Amino acid sequence: MRKPMLAGNWKMNKTRDEAISFILAVEGKLPDSVDCVVCAPAIILRDLVKRRTTLQIGAQNMNQNDSGAYTGEISPVMLRDTEVEYVILGHSERRAYYNETNESVNAKIKKALEFDLKPIVCVGEVLEEREAGSTNAVLKEQITKGFDGVKISNPENVIVAYEPVWAIGTGKSATSEMAEDACSYIRSVLKDMYGEAISNNIRILYGGSVNTKNVNELMSMPNIDGGLVGGASLKADSFVELCNACAK
Ligand code: PEP
Repeated sequence: MRKPMLAGNWKMNKTRDEAISFILAVEGKLPDSVDCVVCAPAIILRDLVKRRTTLQIGAQNMNQNDSGAYTGEISPVMLRDTEVEYVILGHSERRAYYNETNESVNAKIKKALEFDLKPIVCVGEVLEEREAGSTNAVLKEQITKGFDGVKISNPENVIVAYEPVWAIGTGKSATSEMAEDACSYIRSVLKDMYGEAISNNIRILYGGSVNTKNVNELMSMPNIDGGLVGGASLKADSFVELCNACAK
């Protein structure tokens, strides 16, 4: 039985004060049966970790090296020290704007697990790939290369987010059938790599214009275990509503 999860990706939004107001506003309103997470800008993670209650805290990126001459980067050692639980890896914005590749995502997944951080690994096709009928081939490559040589002993600590790039921030969500097809395909690729017991316990989220109107239908799908949500996670009210919708 996979525990549902709703992870907000705040991207480059919210000051420290705004984030603390958010935490206070959601306190006492989140379901225990769902892992409710916000992935916040690195500079405010410590402030949020200090104040977390049911809400769990994650980072949005991490360098694959422990330390060194990587100006502007945040290391797994630093995230561990900050006591965040999750880290988003391979988000399509990082792949598109910061040269993140399946190979760098692979190194980051290994490092995250080494430091007891739970990776939320993003995969997904761009519109041209979907239109060319190559969605599954793209997903297979991202998963097999991203997880190449990754040892998974606690599958509940590994999360994959299917995020079709054309649905992110566009207001145009995938239909629940499209999202389910992709998530079930991802699970089958994980099954080929890790076997049934492990693949059945890895949570697979859908992300891409999830909102309070489409969340119930998306969450009713058997292979969708929750959501990775950008825009609709920024307001406390809609975040609480989305988390409760995942408590199915
Ligand atoms: C995201 O940033 O991962 C995302 C899914 O954004 P949005 O919900 O705004 O489409």
